[in-house]
Amino acid sequence: MIKDNLENKTVKIHNLLLSSFLLISIFSCQRNERLNKPNIIFIMSDDHAAHAISSYGGIYDKIAPTPNIDKIGFEGIRFENVFCTNGICGPSRASILTGKYSHRNGFYKNEKGGKFNKDQWTFPKEFQENGYKTALFGKWHLGSEPVGFDHFKYHDNKGQQGFYYNPIYNENGNRVTEEGYATNLTTDFALNWLKDEGEIDKPFMMMLQFKAPHRSWEPDEKYRDFFGDQELPYPKTFNDNYEGREQTAGDTDMTMDFFNRNDMKLSPPDSLTGRKERNKWLRSGDKRGFGEGWLPKSGMTQEEARKWKYQRYIKDYLACIKSVDDNIGRVLDYLEKSELDKNTVVIYTSDQGFYLGDHGWFDKRFMYEESLKMPFLMKYPGTKNREMVNKDFITNIDFASTLLDIAGIKGKEELQGRSFLPNILDENSKDWRQSMYYHYYEFPFWHHVQPHYGIRNQKFKLIHFYYNIDVWELYDLQNDPEEITNLINDPSYADVIKEMKLDLKKLQIEYGDDKSLDEFRSITDTDFGHIGGKGIRE
Ligand code: CA
Repeated sequence: MIKDNLENKTVKIHNLLLSSFLLISIFSCQRNERLNKPNIIFIMSDDHAAHAISSYGGIYDKIAPTPNIDKIGFEGIRFENVFCTNGICGPSRASILTGKYSHRNGFYKNEKGGKFNKDQWTFPKEFQENGYKTALFGKWHLGSEPVGFDHFKYHDNKGQQGFYYNPIYNENGNRVTEEGYATNLTTDFALNWLKDEGEIDKPFMMMLQFKAPHRSWEPDEKYRDFFGDQELPYPKTFNDNYEGREQTAGDTDMTMDFFNRNDMKLSPPDSLTGRKERNKWLRSGDKRGFGEGWLPKSGMTQEEARKWKYQRYIKDYLACIKSVDDNIGRVLDYLEKSELDKNTVVIYTSDQGFYLGDHGWFDKRFMYEESLKMPFLMKYPGTKNREMVNKDFITNIDFASTLLDIAGIKGKEELQGRSFLPNILDENSKDWRQSMYYHYYEFPFWHHVQPHYGIRNQKFKLIHFYYNIDVWELYDLQNDPEEITNLINDPSYADVIKEMKLDLKKLQIEYGDDKSLDEFRSITDTDFGHIGGKGIRE
C-alpha cells in the first residue's frame, strides 16, 4: 500500500517534471530571436479590406484567393485585430508615418486643404538618420512631397491619387509619365531599386505602396474579365435596411446608388461630344442630387440595378487585388533568390478596410468593423512556418514605434503608439491595451458620413455621432458581429453603456482628444488652408 502510494507519487512528480519541461519548451519556442538591423519592406495597398484576403476568410476566399499575401502571414504572423484610427487615406497614412492621432499630426481629412505638414517628425526620417537607406514607391497621397527618403517615385497626378493606366510618377522631384499598369510598374521600380541597392553596405527600409484597389477599380488588361459571367456572392448585410440607424448608416452617399458611370466602365453616348458634357455624364451619380440611382440598362428595376452595380464593382475590385497579389509574389521570389529574405522583414497592410457590399456600401470612413479593421501580416525571419496569429488590439499609430523597434532604433520623438514587437518575440509579454479609440472628421464630402468618435473593446463598440446630429450607438460584437442592432436604448445594457462612456472619456484624456463638441465640429468645418494646397480627393 505504502509502496503503491510512493510509486504513484513518483509517477506524479515525473509527470509534473515532464509537463513543466514541455511547458518551458513550448514557451521557449514562442520566443523568437531579435534580428540585428534587418531590412524592412513595408507594403501597403489602398482600401484593401481584410475580408478580401483569403487567409482572413470571408465569402471570397475560394473565388479570389491571395496566395502571395497569405504567404507573408504563413511564414510569420497574421494579425487579426489591427484597427485604423481615422478611416480615410491621407489621415491614416499621416498616423502611420507619425505614430500619432490626427489631432496631433494635424491631418484630419482629405478634403478642404488636407495636406501633410512635412516638417514634422516621421519614421522614415528617423530611419534615414540612423544609417538606413530609405525608398518609397507608388502611392504617397499626402499632398506634400515625401521627405525622409533617399529615393522616391510616387504617383503625382489627380491630386496624388494616380492613374491605373499610364500613370505620372514623381521621381526624386521630376515628373515622368510611364507606360503600363500602375501595380506592375510600381513593383518594377521597387525591384530595380532593390537590385541596385538591396545588397550593398547598409540596411534598407522600403515603402512599397500600391494605388490598387482604390476607386476607380480598373483591373490590368489580362484580368479585365477574370470572373466572367458568374454571379459573385453577396455579403450577409447587403440588404441592410438601417433600422435603428436611420440618421447614421442610413443617411450616406455610399450605397450602390452612388456609383457613377465611370466606376462602371460605361462609355458616354456619341451624341455627347464636349469634354465637359462627357465628364458630367460619367461622374453623375457621385452624390445626392447628381443622378444617384441611375439604371445601367433601361428596363432594369432599382433592385436589379443595385445587384448589377455590385457585381461590376466586386469583380473589378477583386481583379485589381489579383495584380497586387501577383506582384507581391514577384517581390517575395526576388527576396528568396537573392537570399535577402534571411534578413528582411516584410509587412503587408492597407491604409484602412473597405465595405465590399457590406451594409449595401462601398467606401470606408465609418467605425464599423469592415473598414475599421486593417489587414496586417508580417514575415519576420526566424518565425518561418509558424503561422502565428496575434489578436492584440493594435492601431495604425503603433506602426512607427514597431518599425523602429524592429530596426533597433531608439527614436527621439515621443509617439502616441507603442511597439508590438515584444508581443511577437515573446507571446507571454502581455502588458497591452484592451480597447482602442477612433475619431473621424470629414463631412459631408465624400459620401456623407457623419463625424464620430468611439471606443471598441473585445465585446462592445460605442460610437457618438456628434456633428449636426446627436446619436449614440452601442453594438454587442459577440452576439451581433454584423452590427445591425443598435442597443443604445436597451435598458439591459445600461451598465455596459455607462462603463463604456467612462472608458471612452479616459481614452480621450489619455490621447489628448478631450475637447468640446464645438471644437470637434470646428475641425470638420475648417479649411486647413494654412497648411496649403488644394486638398486631395477621397
Ligand atoms: Ca484608402
